Formats: sequence, C-alpha cells, structure tokens
Amino acid sequence: MNYIGKYNKIVSNLIKKDFQNLARERIIIKEKNVKYKAHVRYFPWGATLYLSKQLRKFPEKVVKRIIFHELCHLELFKKEGIIKNNFNYLFYIFSSKTRKRIETEANILMIKKGHGREVMAALKDNLRRGLSYPLSIKEIKQYMDRYYK
Ligand SMILES: [Zn+2]
Repeated sequence: MNYIGKYNKIVSNLIKKDFQNLARERIIIKEKNVKYKAHVRYFPWGATLYLSKQLRKFPEKVVKRIIFHELCHLELFKKEGIIKNNFNYLFYIFSSKTRKRIETEANILMIKKGHGREVMAALKDNLRRGLSYPLSIKEIKQYMDRYYK
C-alpha cells in the first residue's frame, strides 16, 4: 500500500476543510522511525511532516487525529515565523516547559477548530498507556465550554 499517498490525501482534505491558511504551503511527508508518532518541522523551503511507521497499523480515525494535531502545530509555526519557530524548536527538544507550552497551544487550537472530542480521546489514549498529556480532562472541558457555546 502506498502510505505516503494515503497521508497526502488526508493532509489535502484537512487543509481544504480546516486549514485554509496552509493551502499554499508546501508540505512534504516522510515516513521515519521517530520517537513520537509524528512531528512537523517548518523550513524556509516548506514544511516536513514526519510520520512514524507505527501509523500504518493505526485506524484511519486515529491517523487523521494525529495529522490534524500536526497541522495545528504548523498553523501556529507559520504565525510565529520561520526564525522564531526554529529557535523555539531547540527549546522544544531541551525544555520540558517549552514542550508543554507548545503542545498545549496546539491542542487548544485543535479544540477551537471543533475537535475537542478528539483531544479528549488522545488524552485518554495517553493515560491508558501511562503517558502524560499537556492538558487535563478538566481543562479540555473548560475550553470546549468556551468555544462550543
Ligand atoms: Zn504536538
């Protein structure tokens, strides 16, 4: 199966629906054995979305949720600009505080875009696997109340 083709399709559908501001961005998808399921980098020549080969076995719904989250990062990266973003990236690697802030912002944007239930599902997934999550159940509910009423 052509996984890159499948992921490209998911990305272009999500951009059409929820990320119009990324419509003109060049996004290259690469499969890689990364520590995280996915991560995205923003370079002057375009963005690169790295997806773990684990994703091949994941249900489509989960793959979409993961890619949606990465596009939220990309939208925020674009707002802060290339230079600031690549600078922040170093902090992302070395500072857990920065990492938490960047992840929190991406998840809040995801909720804002109507995917609060998906954020909740991601949190529950992490809890099941004994991993931490940047937002608590209470915080997710608060943001959903704020944006959906
Ligand atoms: Zn993230």
